[in-house]
Amino acid sequence: MTVVELRGVTKTYPGNVTAVREVDLTVGRGEFAAIVGPSGSGKSTLLNLIGTLDRPTEGRVTVAGHDVAALGDRAVSALRAASIGFVFQQFHLGPGISALDNVADGLLYAGVRRKERRARAAAALDRVGLAHRAGHRPHELSGGERQRVAIARAVIGEPALLLADEPTGNLDSTAGSSIMDLLRALNAGGTTVLVITHDNTIADLVPRRIRVHDGVVAG
Ligand code: ADP
Repeated sequence: MTVVELRGVTKTYPGNVTAVREVDLTVGRGEFAAIVGPSGSGKSTLLNLIGTLDRPTEGRVTVAGHDVAALGDRAVSALRAASIGFVFQQFHLGPGISALDNVADGLLYAGVRRKERRARAAAALDRVGLAHRAGHRPHELSGGERQRVAIARAVIGEPALLLADEPTGNLDSTAGSSIMDLLRALNAGGTTVLVITHDNTIADLVPRRIRVHDGVVAG
């Protein structure tokens, strides 16, 4: 099964800046891939298109079998909530909220009751090796631990795709490689993972590399 498919995708911003050009890309279920390229190459634009946060100027984006162009904004939001777990460089955890509740928030729009959200959050924290930090708030956690919480929140709903934007960008190399180990372990457990990075050292840890230069995807 295909999780992400881009066909002939071009994105031109106002001012006539073409950020990505005629991109064809397929990510299958169970893959662990990295989109890698230097600053300005079009990675964020691809992230926004794949993450259904933006629509292409031309071409077709399909996520978990749904043609995004065929859906209205509410349906796209629902598809995104159900199918994509996001992880960001800056973690984006709720301050002053325990790790457990931050993770449970990953199910806020899934129609799951609070008690079950918290039970599943405890299991998700256990999956990322942080069961013993469930009651800690983000400021009581290291950067690597914060990113683990963010990853647990992203996977709690078992999305078709885990989309990680520079997930090690705010971490030292030890914490960064441990986050890459965690992504590898989640992938081995069946999660489809797509990492976006400018860092070749990180990309080299991923089995499939999708290289982007000047908005063009090579092979
Ligand atoms: P990366 O994430 O690899 O740094 P981006 O996707 O952010 O690359 O940018 C690709 C190109 O598109 C760059 O030339 C950038 O200046 C341009 N760009 C990005 N976003 C916009 C925007 N909202 N409006 C106009 N140009 C943009």
